[in-house]
Amino acid sequence: MKINIHNTLTGKKELFEPSSVDLSTTPPTVTMYHCGPTVYSYAHIGNMRSYIFADTIRRTFQYAGFSVRQVINITDVGHLVSDNDDGEDKVEKAAKKEGSSASEITQKYTDAFYKDLQNLNIQTNGTIFPKATEHIAEQLSLIKQLEDKGLTYKISDGIYFDTSKFPGYGKLGNINIEGLKEGARVETNTEKKNHTDFALWKFSPTDERRQQEWPSPWGVGFPGWHIECSAMSIKYLGQPFDIHTGGIDHIPVHHNNEIAQSEGATGTPLARYWLHNNHITIDGQKISKSIGNTVYLSDFPEKNIDPLAFRYWLLTSHYSTLSNFTWEAQQASAQAYEKIISHLAKISNEVSNLESSENDGNGNEKNKTYIDPEYKEKFERFIGDDFNTAQAIALIWEIIKDENLNNIQKFSNIIFFDEVLGLDLKNQITKYSEKINIQSVVPEEIQALVNKREEARSNKDFSLADEIRQEIITLGYSLDDTSSGPIVKKI
Ligand code: AMP
Ligand code: ZN
Repeated sequence: MKINIHNTLTGKKELFEPSSVDLSTTPPTVTMYHCGPTVYSYAHIGNMRSYIFADTIRRTFQYAGFSVRQVINITDVGHLVSDNDDGEDKVEKAAKKEGSSASEITQKYTDAFYKDLQNLNIQTNGTIFPKATEHIAEQLSLIKQLEDKGLTYKISDGIYFDTSKFPGYGKLGNINIEGLKEGARVETNTEKKNHTDFALWKFSPTDERRQQEWPSPWGVGFPGWHIECSAMSIKYLGQPFDIHTGGIDHIPVHHNNEIAQSEGATGTPLARYWLHNNHITIDGQKISKSIGNTVYLSDFPEKNIDPLAFRYWLLTSHYSTLSNFTWEAQQASAQAYEKIISHLAKISNEVSNLESSENDGNGNEKNKTYIDPEYKEKFERFIGDDFNTAQAIALIWEIIKDENLNNIQKFSNIIFFDEVLGLDLKNQITKYSEKINIQSVVPEEIQALVNKREEARSNKDFSLADEIRQEIITLGYSLDDTSSGPIVKKI
């Protein structure tokens, strides 16, 4: 299968060619680095788009027969509120605000991030999640290499990278350096030699003791945000590795800085392909913690929407398009997602009957024999065309409606393609069937109460919802709220 990807570095769609390093393992390995979350608060759904995208890339390569080595870093120090080199450290600021230690803050939000990954069915087996605070030595050694090459200078608040000494600075995305300068706010750091220079190591303030600080050859302090990614990606993937991803907001500064440091230190390209997902907006404005227009994955259950419906929604557009979030669109995608599940649940009996009559103890392999070659070819063409999940989802609907395919073929094709789409259809079908089976033995009057309670919940009338729940229990039924809806059982 051919995989063409849009490489921000060249501005072109290119055929993915494995590197010689990749080919030395069986199966060949694709190495990928994804800029991870800054763990000073919950990741919002815009952030999560980046990791759904990373997962789509991973799953596509796995489908195509590669193995993957994947790194998502955890930024737990050094990301300043300005996103540049001034202002407070986001983590230290959150620690003060929440009245806890920096490590408690980062642990809390790292755990929440892992939970979000799980709720979105993002594969994490084998994924490395390195923390910046646990890689200080690697960062110091990279800064030392840069210093030895004469690419750094010291000013009163830290050690900086001299971008004028790195030919081609700004090459990723063809950044207009002059434009960056004009667009910037008033320069606060007058000691910097060039506007685009950035901190590699910041000194701790003299009037305040930071919670997170380390000794260094230049003075006590903490690493700059950009050096973390360079040090950790090189450590775990080597240089150059295959794929580097992040949101488009990282192109002008963060990723160009990663390139300048890593290539400046070693003379070798950092990554071969750079891929960037577009943003999620609300009312046309980028979702951002600093603007405060955030929506979190944890907001979904109270709207009775499965987080996987959000994944479905994102997959219905190409990763490079701007997606505007509304709850109406989420409701619609939840309906569409459930329709696929209920359709597959209905035909799943037919499939399991067939499986038990032909059981060869190797369900997966056997399923493949029902894969329609034309749909398979189309699916691979779409997904291999710069991860066009929108077309792949449209293909699922085409399969459902195709009268020339029998139910077993439909089921097998869709479940097979879900290896890439990651909609967790097999599990959802089981849950859905269980719900339907249970519902069918629940008397109508109890079901009516369940429905009334659901209505109260969606109207946020939680006290009424609690009252109805009590009534259901008194009538001899238990009620569990699950991601696929309430499950009622006779006690
Ligand atoms: P951060 O935690 O701010 O370092 O961001 C984590 C990832 O989320 C990065 O790849 C960002 O580019 C990405 N990101 C931030 N805001 C959005 C948004 N509104 N839509 C899509 N991606 C975003
Ligand atoms: Zn990064």
